[in-house]
Amino acid sequence: MTDLNHYIPRCKTCGVLNPPTHIENAIQACNIHRFNHPNHKTMWVPIKSARNNKEQSK
Ligand SMILES: [Zn+2]
Repeated sequence: MTDLNHYIPRCKTCGVLNPPTHIENAIQACNIHRFNHPNHKTMWVPIKSARNNKEQSK
């Protein structure tokens, strides 16, 4: 059930910042991005359908 902990860090201006990761890393990526770009608004979006989709094999 650890797949439910994946989040995508996003920026309203730049789009996706990083691939899906744990929420702690997603929040950290957003904080770093906001520090570098104070005018940008960031968010982290949870992934709920990771189990049924193909696992990333890259
Ligand atoms: Zn940005």
